[in-house]
Amino acid sequence: MNFNLENITRENVKGLSPYSSARDEYISDGSEMVFLDANENPFENGVNRYPDPQQRSLKHVLARTKGVDTNQILLGNGSDEVLDLLFRAFCEPNVDNIVTLPPTYGMYKVLSGINSIENREVLLLENFQPDLNAVKNAIDERTKIIFICSPNNPSGNSISSKVIDELLDSFSGLIIIDEAYIDFSPNQSWVTKLDKYPNLVVTQTLSKAYGMAGIRLGICYASNGIISILNKIKPPYNINELTQQKALERLEKISQIQQEITNILEERSKLIEELEGLTFISKIYQSDANFVLVKVDDATKRYNQLLKKGIVTRNRTAQPLCENTLRFTIGTKDENQKLMTVLKSLL
Ligand SMILES: *Cc1c(COP(=O)(O)O)cnc(C)c1O
Repeated sequence: MNFNLENITRENVKGLSPYSSARDEYISDGSEMVFLDANENPFENGVNRYPDPQQRSLKHVLARTKGVDTNQILLGNGSDEVLDLLFRAFCEPNVDNIVTLPPTYGMYKVLSGINSIENREVLLLENFQPDLNAVKNAIDERTKIIFICSPNNPSGNSISSKVIDELLDSFSGLIIIDEAYIDFSPNQSWVTKLDKYPNLVVTQTLSKAYGMAGIRLGICYASNGIISILNKIKPPYNINELTQQKALERLEKISQIQQEITNILEERSKLIEELEGLTFISKIYQSDANFVLVKVDDATKRYNQLLKKGIVTRNRTAQPLCENTLRFTIGTKDENQKLMTVLKSLL
Protein backbone atom coordinates (compact mmCIF):
# COMPACT_ATOMS: atom_id res chain seq x y z
CA MET A 1 0.00 0.00 0.00
CA ASN A 2 1.35 3.40 -0.94
CA PHE A 3 -0.82 5.74 1.08
CA ASN A 4 0.51 9.26 1.24
CA LEU A 5 -1.62 11.93 2.89
CA GLU A 6 0.08 14.71 0.96
CA ASN A 7 -0.88 13.05 -2.34
CA ILE A 8 -4.57 12.81 -1.57
CA THR A 9 -5.11 16.26 -0.08
CA ARG A 10 -6.62 18.93 -2.32
CA GLU A 11 -4.09 21.51 -3.52
CA ASN A 12 -6.01 24.50 -2.15
CA VAL A 13 -6.41 22.85 1.25
CA LYS A 14 -2.67 22.16 1.59
CA GLY A 15 -2.01 25.90 1.56
CA LEU A 16 -4.64 26.86 4.12
CA SER A 17 -4.01 27.74 7.72
CA PRO A 18 -6.99 27.48 10.07
CA TYR A 19 -8.92 30.63 10.98
CA SER A 20 -7.66 31.77 14.33
CA SER A 21 -10.59 32.86 16.47
CA ALA A 22 -10.43 34.94 19.63
CA ARG A 23 -10.99 31.80 21.65
CA ASP A 24 -8.11 30.06 19.86
CA GLU A 25 -5.65 32.85 20.55
CA TYR A 26 -6.23 33.07 24.26
CA ILE A 27 -6.64 29.71 25.99
CA SER A 28 -7.90 29.97 29.54
CA ASP A 29 -5.84 28.28 32.24
CA GLY A 30 -8.77 28.48 34.61
CA SER A 31 -7.82 31.74 36.30
CA GLU A 32 -10.26 34.65 36.54
CA MET A 33 -9.78 36.79 33.45
CA VAL A 34 -11.61 39.75 31.95
CA PHE A 35 -12.66 38.81 28.42
CA LEU A 36 -12.65 41.82 26.15
CA ASP A 37 -11.39 40.04 23.06
CA ALA A 38 -14.39 38.64 21.16
CA ASN A 39 -16.96 41.45 21.13
CA GLU A 40 -19.39 39.36 23.16
CA ASN A 41 -22.18 40.83 25.28
CA PRO A 42 -20.71 40.68 28.81
CA PHE A 43 -24.00 40.07 30.64
CA GLU A 44 -24.14 36.41 31.66
CA ASN A 45 -27.06 34.28 30.44
CA GLY A 46 -25.30 30.93 30.06
CA VAL A 47 -24.53 31.26 26.36
CA ASN A 48 -23.27 34.82 25.93
CA ARG A 49 -19.69 33.56 25.40
CA TYR A 50 -18.41 31.77 22.30
CA PRO A 51 -18.00 28.01 22.78
CA ASP A 52 -14.59 26.32 22.90
CA PRO A 53 -13.66 25.98 19.18
CA GLN A 54 -11.57 22.89 19.93
CA GLN A 55 -14.12 21.29 22.32
CA ARG A 56 -11.32 20.28 24.68
CA SER A 57 -13.42 18.88 27.53
CA LEU A 58 -15.53 16.75 25.25
CA LYS A 59 -12.56 15.42 23.32
CA HIS A 60 -10.80 14.62 26.55
CA VAL A 61 -13.67 12.37 27.67
CA LEU A 62 -13.99 10.73 24.25
CA ALA A 63 -10.23 10.14 23.98
CA ARG A 64 -10.19 8.46 27.37
CA THR A 65 -13.12 6.16 26.63
CA LYS A 66 -11.94 5.23 23.12
CA GLY A 67 -8.23 4.89 23.86
CA VAL A 68 -7.08 7.50 21.32
CA ASP A 69 -5.33 10.87 21.54
CA THR A 70 -7.40 14.05 21.57
CA ASN A 71 -5.58 15.06 18.38
CA GLN A 72 -7.09 12.01 16.65
CA ILE A 73 -10.62 13.40 17.10
CA LEU A 74 -12.64 15.90 15.10
CA LEU A 75 -16.20 16.80 16.10
CA GLY A 76 -18.88 17.88 13.68
CA ASN A 77 -22.43 19.20 13.61
CA GLY A 78 -23.66 15.62 13.17
CA SER A 79 -21.74 12.98 11.19
CA ASP A 80 -23.15 14.68 8.15
CA GLU A 81 -20.83 17.66 8.69
CA VAL A 82 -17.88 15.33 9.33
CA LEU A 83 -18.54 13.51 6.05
CA ASP A 84 -18.89 16.81 4.18
CA LEU A 85 -15.54 18.03 5.58
CA LEU A 86 -13.90 14.82 4.34
CA PHE A 87 -15.21 15.50 0.83
CA ARG A 88 -14.05 19.10 0.92
CA ALA A 89 -10.58 18.26 2.20
CA PHE A 90 -9.74 15.38 -0.12
CA CYS A 91 -11.98 15.34 -3.20
CA GLU A 92 -11.33 17.76 -6.06
CA PRO A 93 -14.68 18.71 -7.67
CA ASN A 94 -15.22 17.37 -11.20
CA VAL A 95 -11.93 15.46 -11.03
CA ASP A 96 -11.93 12.94 -8.20
CA ASN A 97 -14.34 10.11 -7.45
CA ILE A 98 -15.53 8.04 -4.51
CA VAL A 99 -16.81 4.49 -4.19
CA THR A 100 -19.98 3.62 -2.25
CA LEU A 101 -21.61 0.26 -1.68
CA PRO A 102 -25.41 0.42 -2.07
CA PRO A 103 -27.80 -0.28 -0.55
CA THR A 104 -26.35 2.03 2.08
CA TYR A 105 -26.73 5.35 3.89
CA GLY A 106 -28.03 7.97 1.47
CA MET A 107 -25.88 10.88 2.60
CA TYR A 108 -22.70 9.71 0.85
CA LYS A 109 -24.43 10.08 -2.49
CA VAL A 110 -26.06 13.40 -1.55
CA LEU A 111 -22.71 14.82 -0.44
CA SER A 112 -20.97 13.56 -3.58
CA GLY A 113 -23.58 15.47 -5.60
CA ILE A 114 -23.22 18.66 -3.54
CA ASN A 115 -19.44 18.53 -3.89
CA SER A 116 -19.56 17.56 -7.57
CA ILE A 117 -17.67 14.30 -7.04
CA GLU A 118 -18.42 11.23 -9.16
CA ASN A 119 -20.00 8.49 -7.04
CA ARG A 120 -19.04 5.00 -8.27
CA GLU A 121 -21.65 2.64 -6.92
CA VAL A 122 -20.64 -0.99 -6.47
CA LEU A 123 -23.65 -3.00 -5.33
CA LEU A 124 -23.29 -5.27 -2.35
CA LEU A 125 -23.79 -8.98 -3.00
CA GLU A 126 -27.06 -10.74 -2.13
CA ASN A 127 -25.72 -11.36 1.40
CA PHE A 128 -25.07 -7.59 1.74
CA GLN A 129 -21.29 -8.11 1.76
CA PRO A 130 -19.00 -6.17 -0.62
CA ASP A 131 -17.95 -7.67 -3.94
CA LEU A 132 -14.23 -7.20 -3.34
CA ASN A 133 -13.17 -7.69 -6.96
CA ALA A 134 -15.83 -5.33 -8.25
CA VAL A 135 -14.71 -2.69 -5.73
CA LYS A 136 -11.10 -3.08 -6.82
CA ASN A 137 -12.15 -2.78 -10.46
CA ALA A 138 -14.08 0.42 -9.76
CA ILE A 139 -11.06 2.14 -8.22
CA ASP A 140 -8.68 4.26 -10.27
CA GLU A 141 -5.98 6.83 -9.49
CA ARG A 142 -8.64 9.52 -8.90
CA THR A 143 -10.56 7.48 -6.30
CA LYS A 144 -10.09 9.27 -3.00
CA ILE A 145 -12.54 7.62 -0.64
CA ILE A 146 -14.34 4.29 -0.19
CA PHE A 147 -17.34 4.57 2.14
CA ILE A 148 -18.13 1.49 4.21
CA CYS A 149 -21.11 1.57 6.54
CA SER A 150 -20.79 -1.09 9.23
CA PRO A 151 -23.23 -2.10 10.62
CA ASN A 152 -24.83 -1.14 7.34
CA ASN A 153 -27.95 0.96 7.04
CA PRO A 154 -30.52 -0.23 5.87
CA SER A 155 -29.52 -3.91 5.89
CA GLY A 156 -28.29 -4.04 9.51
CA ASN A 157 -25.38 -6.46 9.01
CA SER A 158 -21.74 -5.78 9.77
CA ILE A 159 -19.33 -5.72 6.85
CA SER A 160 -16.77 -8.54 6.78
CA SER A 161 -13.62 -7.47 8.60
CA LYS A 162 -11.56 -9.56 6.21
CA VAL A 163 -12.80 -7.50 3.26
CA ILE A 164 -12.18 -4.25 5.13
CA ASP A 165 -8.65 -5.34 6.11
CA GLU A 166 -7.93 -6.22 2.50
CA LEU A 167 -9.12 -2.81 1.27
CA LEU A 168 -7.21 -0.95 3.99
CA ASP A 169 -4.08 -2.81 2.92
CA SER A 170 -4.44 -2.30 -0.83
CA PHE A 171 -6.21 1.04 -1.35
CA SER A 172 -4.10 4.20 -1.46
CA GLY A 173 -7.01 6.54 -0.64
CA LEU A 174 -9.11 6.82 2.51
CA ILE A 175 -11.40 4.10 3.84
CA ILE A 176 -14.18 5.71 5.83
CA ILE A 177 -15.99 3.31 8.13
CA ASP A 178 -19.30 4.75 9.27
CA GLU A 179 -19.96 3.24 12.69
CA ALA A 180 -23.22 5.03 13.50
CA TYR A 181 -24.59 1.73 14.89
CA ILE A 182 -21.41 0.23 16.40
CA ASP A 183 -22.73 0.40 19.97
CA PHE A 184 -25.44 -2.12 19.10
CA SER A 185 -22.95 -4.50 17.53
CA PRO A 186 -21.02 -7.35 19.17
CA ASN A 187 -18.04 -6.45 16.98
CA GLN A 188 -15.13 -4.29 18.02
CA SER A 189 -14.87 -0.76 16.67
CA TRP A 190 -12.29 -0.05 13.95
CA VAL A 191 -11.08 2.83 16.15
CA THR A 192 -8.75 0.27 17.73
CA LYS A 193 -6.98 -0.12 14.34
CA LEU A 194 -6.15 3.55 13.77
CA ASP A 195 -2.49 3.10 14.59
CA LYS A 196 -2.18 0.19 12.18
CA TYR A 197 -3.81 1.87 9.15
CA PRO A 198 -2.87 5.45 8.20
CA ASN A 199 -5.71 5.56 5.63
CA LEU A 200 -8.46 4.61 8.10
CA VAL A 201 -11.15 7.08 9.14
CA VAL A 202 -13.90 6.03 11.55
CA THR A 203 -17.05 8.08 12.06
CA GLN A 204 -19.44 7.72 14.95
CA THR A 205 -22.35 9.77 16.26
CA LEU A 206 -24.28 10.54 19.42
CA SER A 207 -27.51 10.34 17.37
CA LYS A 208 -28.30 6.64 17.77
CA ALA A 209 -27.20 4.58 20.80
CA TYR A 210 -26.35 7.69 22.82
CA GLY A 211 -29.84 9.06 22.35
CA MET A 212 -28.88 12.58 21.34
CA ALA A 213 -29.98 13.03 17.71
CA GLY A 214 -31.30 16.47 18.63
CA ILE A 215 -27.99 18.01 19.68
CA ARG A 216 -26.19 17.06 16.41
CA LEU A 217 -22.82 15.67 17.39
CA GLY A 218 -20.79 13.56 14.99
CA ILE A 219 -17.31 12.24 15.71
CA CYS A 220 -14.42 11.50 13.41
CA TYR A 221 -11.47 9.39 14.53
CA ALA A 222 -8.36 9.28 12.34
CA SER A 223 -4.61 9.91 12.37
CA ASN A 224 -3.43 13.23 13.73
CA GLY A 225 -2.38 14.13 10.17
CA ILE A 226 -5.87 13.64 8.75
CA ILE A 227 -7.49 15.43 11.70
CA SER A 228 -5.14 18.41 11.28
CA ILE A 229 -6.25 18.80 7.67
CA LEU A 230 -9.93 18.66 8.63
CA ASN A 231 -9.29 21.24 11.36
CA LYS A 232 -8.07 23.66 8.70
CA ILE A 233 -11.45 23.72 6.98
CA LYS A 234 -13.97 23.23 9.78
CA PRO A 235 -16.06 26.27 10.78
CA PRO A 236 -14.42 27.69 13.94
CA TYR A 237 -17.42 27.32 16.25
CA ASN A 238 -19.15 24.33 14.63
CA ILE A 239 -20.12 22.70 17.95
CA ASN A 240 -22.30 25.08 19.92
CA GLU A 241 -22.11 25.54 23.69
CA LEU A 242 -25.42 23.78 24.45
CA THR A 243 -24.36 20.73 22.45
CA GLN A 244 -21.00 20.55 24.22
CA GLN A 245 -22.66 20.80 27.64
CA LYS A 246 -25.39 18.24 26.90
CA ALA A 247 -22.93 15.77 25.39
CA LEU A 248 -20.64 16.02 28.42
CA GLU A 249 -23.55 15.42 30.80
CA ARG A 250 -24.66 12.40 28.83
CA LEU A 251 -21.18 10.89 28.54
CA GLU A 252 -20.97 10.91 32.33
CA LYS A 253 -23.93 8.51 32.42
CA ILE A 254 -22.35 5.64 30.53
CA SER A 255 -24.12 3.03 32.66
CA GLN A 256 -27.53 4.46 31.76
CA ILE A 257 -26.64 4.43 28.06
CA GLN A 258 -25.46 0.84 28.41
CA GLN A 259 -28.75 -0.08 30.06
CA GLU A 260 -30.74 1.49 27.25
CA ILE A 261 -28.67 -0.38 24.65
CA THR A 262 -29.24 -3.67 26.49
CA ASN A 263 -32.95 -2.95 26.61
CA ILE A 264 -33.07 -2.16 22.88
CA LEU A 265 -31.18 -5.37 22.05
CA GLU A 266 -33.60 -7.43 24.17
CA GLU A 267 -36.52 -5.74 22.46
CA ARG A 268 -34.94 -6.46 19.08
CA SER A 269 -34.76 -10.20 19.87
CA LYS A 270 -38.37 -10.25 21.05
CA LEU A 271 -39.59 -8.34 18.01
CA ILE A 272 -37.73 -10.62 15.60
CA GLU A 273 -39.23 -13.67 17.27
CA GLU A 274 -42.74 -12.26 16.90
CA LEU A 275 -42.21 -11.09 13.34
CA GLU A 276 -41.28 -14.66 12.40
CA GLY A 277 -44.92 -15.64 12.98
CA LEU A 278 -46.31 -13.29 10.33
CA THR A 279 -47.10 -14.96 7.01
CA PHE A 280 -46.64 -11.81 4.89
CA ILE A 281 -43.06 -11.44 6.13
CA SER A 282 -40.84 -13.72 4.08
CA LYS A 283 -37.47 -12.68 5.43
CA ILE A 284 -36.01 -10.97 8.48
CA TYR A 285 -32.45 -9.84 7.85
CA GLN A 286 -29.81 -10.37 10.52
CA SER A 287 -29.12 -7.10 12.34
CA ASP A 288 -26.27 -5.73 14.44
CA ALA A 289 -28.12 -2.40 14.74
CA ASN A 290 -31.19 -0.89 16.44
CA PHE A 291 -33.43 -1.70 13.49
CA VAL A 292 -34.48 -4.69 11.45
CA LEU A 293 -35.04 -4.92 7.74
CA VAL A 294 -37.86 -7.27 6.73
CA LYS A 295 -39.07 -8.48 3.36
CA VAL A 296 -42.84 -8.40 2.99
CA ASP A 297 -45.32 -9.31 0.25
CA ASP A 298 -45.97 -5.69 -0.79
CA ALA A 299 -43.89 -3.05 1.01
CA THR A 300 -45.81 0.00 -0.18
CA LYS A 301 -49.17 -1.53 0.75
CA ARG A 302 -47.93 -2.57 4.21
CA TYR A 303 -46.22 0.78 4.74
CA ASN A 304 -49.47 2.63 4.04
CA GLN A 305 -51.50 0.28 6.24
CA LEU A 306 -49.12 0.91 9.14
CA LEU A 307 -49.20 4.64 8.52
CA LYS A 308 -53.01 4.66 8.70
CA LYS A 309 -52.74 3.07 12.13
CA GLY A 310 -50.28 5.74 13.26
CA ILE A 311 -47.04 3.82 12.86
CA VAL A 312 -44.29 5.35 10.76
CA THR A 313 -41.72 2.92 9.33
CA ARG A 314 -39.24 3.25 6.48
CA ASN A 315 -40.14 1.83 3.10
CA ARG A 316 -36.87 0.73 1.48
CA THR A 317 -38.39 -0.94 -1.56
CA ALA A 318 -36.75 1.48 -4.01
CA GLN A 319 -33.24 0.64 -2.78
CA PRO A 320 -31.19 -1.92 -4.73
CA LEU A 321 -31.47 -5.47 -3.32
CA CYS A 322 -34.24 -4.22 -1.01
CA GLU A 323 -37.35 -4.80 -3.09
CA ASN A 324 -40.42 -5.02 -0.84
CA THR A 325 -38.55 -4.32 2.34
CA LEU A 326 -39.50 -2.21 5.34
CA ARG A 327 -37.12 -1.03 8.02
CA PHE A 328 -38.39 -1.04 11.59
CA THR A 329 -36.51 0.94 14.23
CA ILE A 330 -36.60 -0.79 17.63
CA GLY A 331 -38.73 1.37 19.92
CA THR A 332 -39.75 1.04 23.56
CA LYS A 333 -41.48 -2.15 24.67
CA ASP A 334 -44.79 -0.31 24.34
CA GLU A 335 -44.08 0.94 20.85
CA ASN A 336 -42.92 -2.45 19.64
CA GLN A 337 -46.07 -4.05 21.04
CA LYS A 338 -48.16 -1.51 19.16
CA LEU A 339 -46.29 -2.37 15.97
CA MET A 340 -46.94 -6.09 16.53
CA THR A 341 -50.61 -5.55 17.34
CA VAL A 342 -51.13 -3.61 14.13
CA LEU A 343 -49.11 -6.06 12.03
CA LYS A 344 -51.15 -8.99 13.40
CA SER A 345 -54.38 -7.14 12.61
CA LEU A 346 -53.31 -7.04 8.97
CA LEU A 347 -53.20 -10.84 8.69
C1 LIG B 1 -28.17 7.88 11.42
C2 LIG B 1 -26.89 7.72 10.70
C3 LIG B 1 -25.88 8.66 10.85
C4 LIG B 1 -26.09 9.81 11.79
O1 LIG B 1 -25.77 10.99 11.29
P1 LIG B 1 -25.79 12.26 12.26
O2 LIG B 1 -25.61 13.36 11.28
O3 LIG B 1 -24.64 12.11 13.21
O4 LIG B 1 -27.10 12.29 12.98
C5 LIG B 1 -24.69 8.47 10.19
N1 LIG B 1 -24.50 7.39 9.42
C6 LIG B 1 -25.44 6.46 9.27
C7 LIG B 1 -25.18 5.26 8.45
C8 LIG B 1 -26.67 6.61 9.90
O5 LIG B 1 -27.63 5.68 9.72
